[in-house]
Amino acid sequence: MKFETRSIHKGNHITDTNRPVVQPITLSTTFEHENEAGMLYTRAGNPNRLALEELVASLEGGKVAAAFSSGNAAGTAVFQALEPGSHIIAPDDMYHGLHNSMSILFKGIHEVSFVNMADPEEVKKAIRPNTRLFWVETPSNPLLKISDVRKIAEIAKNQKAILACDNTFATPVFQNPLALGADIVMHSSTKYFGGHSDILGGILVGKEDNEFWAKIRTVQRVGGAVPAAADCYWLSRSIRTLAYRMRGHAQNAMVLAEYFLNHPKVEKVHYPGLKNHPGHEVAAGQMTGFGGVVSFEVKGGADAADRLIKDLHLFVNATSLGGVESIIERRAAVEGPDTLTPPNLIRVSVGLEHSDDLLEDLDLAFSKI
Ligand SMILES: *Cc1c(COP(=O)(O)O)cnc(C)c1O
Repeated sequence: MKFETRSIHKGNHITDTNRPVVQPITLSTTFEHENEAGMLYTRAGNPNRLALEELVASLEGGKVAAAFSSGNAAGTAVFQALEPGSHIIAPDDMYHGLHNSMSILFKGIHEVSFVNMADPEEVKKAIRPNTRLFWVETPSNPLLKISDVRKIAEIAKNQKAILACDNTFATPVFQNPLALGADIVMHSSTKYFGGHSDILGGILVGKEDNEFWAKIRTVQRVGGAVPAAADCYWLSRSIRTLAYRMRGHAQNAMVLAEYFLNHPKVEKVHYPGLKNHPGHEVAAGQMTGFGGVVSFEVKGGADAADRLIKDLHLFVNATSLGGVESIIERRAAVEGPDTLTPPNLIRVSVGLEHSDDLLEDLDLAFSKI
């Protein structure tokens, strides 16, 4: 079955004798012993979480999936599943929440090297005898840097290490890291999976149900950072339209990227769909679309960027991305002093409004700075 069809039908299990079209939400936290489905207690598993996991595993082309209460909990579960004393190679511009997880929560437990993942030579140079995990985020947040997943998968294989890929920006609509050689895919389902800025969640997908995956499952069940049944229901509901939303996001993002490229008050545009993006060719070789996030640098520094944001009306100045509404943010302002993000960089999560309206709003705001 094709992606759109799987998105709609996978994981939708009807056991109710009323034969509802949509699998209902099972709110019960516990289940009568010796039930046919083997349900015990909702932290260990519930019908809606299993449905979501089955759906996302199918979309990513994986064997198994584990849903968590946030993207950070999902990413952190991978670090928790590693043997203490492991060395991790991660991107120097890694999503700052997971950068914090590694450098704060796992300080003294694992060793970490933050390197430029877009350069496979730098990745090789960082390898130590105890390197157990390579972490890739492509496109990266918020610089939209592209890492070559196939090349890093080869490096990881030689090292007998795990390759995990944060696929939040691309989504399985545009990129399947498991097919490119990764072992684990991570998502913040808060973003495009949820798609409407109203659910917090995360999910991991495994290529194989192996020894490492058993540890991930233990972290999920024993650590207990699991999503509520209702959140799993709403996520499955949102994912039914993911392919159509992603095409709209990417189409609008390309329109905006070209607008920024030609704007005299813009210094630089970061969008892998543009031919002048340093990762364009690699992106074109591993993605079928370039996603819905565009970053640009405003001439005149952070002050000019802040003024532009204040003069926009359709673009909401807020953290997060992946919703139907366009969201804009000067990232350096929220990432803190040690960020690699330029101070005049604005990240745009391009929504599904009509692009003419978005351009009109931008034109008006730019005319005021
Ligand atoms: C938001 C985000 C996360 C963290 O997810 P939460 O759901 O906010 O915990 C991780 N990676 C990327 C790329 C993100 O954008």
